[in-house]
Amino acid sequence: MIHYLIVILEHDSAPFCCYDVKERGGPGLIPLDVLEKSVSFAIKNAIPVNFLCGNTALPPGYEELIASVDHVRMVPLARARSGEEAVFIIDGEEDLAHAHVLETGGLNNVILRVGKSEVPSLPSTVERLLGRFRRLNVILKEPGGFAEEDFSAYADALEDVRRILAGEYRKGSFLEISTLSDRVFLTNMNNCNAGTAHLTVAPNGRFYLCPAFYYENGEDCLAGPDDAVEIRNARLLTLENAPVCRNCDAWHCKRCVWLNRRLTSELNTPSHEQCVLAHLEREASRRFLEEIGRECGLNDRVTPIPKLDYLDPFDIISDRSRSPGEKEEHFARLLSRPLEDVPVSDLLRQIYTLDPGMLARLKELNSAVVDLEDGQ
Ligand code: SF4
Repeated sequence: MIHYLIVILEHDSAPFCCYDVKERGGPGLIPLDVLEKSVSFAIKNAIPVNFLCGNTALPPGYEELIASVDHVRMVPLARARSGEEAVFIIDGEEDLAHAHVLETGGLNNVILRVGKSEVPSLPSTVERLLGRFRRLNVILKEPGGFAEEDFSAYADALEDVRRILAGEYRKGSFLEISTLSDRVFLTNMNNCNAGTAHLTVAPNGRFYLCPAFYYENGEDCLAGPDDAVEIRNARLLTLENAPVCRNCDAWHCKRCVWLNRRLTSELNTPSHEQCVLAHLEREASRRFLEEIGRECGLNDRVTPIPKLDYLDPFDIISDRSRSPGEKEEHFARLLSRPLEDVPVSDLLRQIYTLDPGMLARLKELNSAVVDLEDGQ
């Protein structure tokens, strides 16, 4: 079920996620008729649109079309106007130099793109932006290029950001910094879900799983402007068909299908890099909750985050010294933890509501077959 549409208004639109814009200076603005089709698609399907903006000022016909649909603009901060309502993208010094555009004390939603070399300065960037965002979405650029020393630099940076955020919570300022606070408040997987929750229309009018697929290879589309969108092997996009991810509780992880395909050649298999980075964030979130949970009254309201003995679930899955039963127990204990305090009768009722057949299967597993002859 698609919940929203992403429309890339021009080829050089600001990237909002881990991908980069290839061949800058390529085709310019999305043609007006393509924008019109995209907006009609969204209106027909009753979904909002995220418009990815670049530096080009939009001609009037464009503005009217954009205004005709429920939407959010994603704007590079360097070209944002004071008081503008948008999701602001900060990608490097040029954008940061415009931090004053973000009103202090406002509800700004900001995306901060961070490259490998910028990781050590992440805490000072967060400090520089304090008071100017309500939510800061930290996005690591090209995480596929991270090596062991980069993981360690990221763990150190997260540790410092954790201290900054804890200081804010102590003052009663409950900000969101995606890499630290998201996992604390989630109760289940909350991934990017490209292709299942959103689709993208590029300036060429074609549909893609997400902008990253367009920039990597424009031919890698799902449908042309006038075709029905059909996703081949759509089941590979779902959590149920992701054998590593369905054993994981790094619920805030993007589970980026573009990175998966790029680094493992499988849409549903995450790379080591993606798993380690998500687990470093999970551990920083665990320490954050441990530090301020009681003080800020969170402990009674959120499920504790258990400490793990791995940074990549695949290390457990591929560990030959553990039997299949031991691996199953390892993950089952982890994933069932948030349900431990729910009375069994309630759990069984919930299972029945979700899938009555599951109760029959559970009974089969737990009831011995009676052999009358054996009892003689
Ligand atoms: S699949 Fe999702 S997480 Fe990955 S690049 Fe595309 S939008 Fe970002």
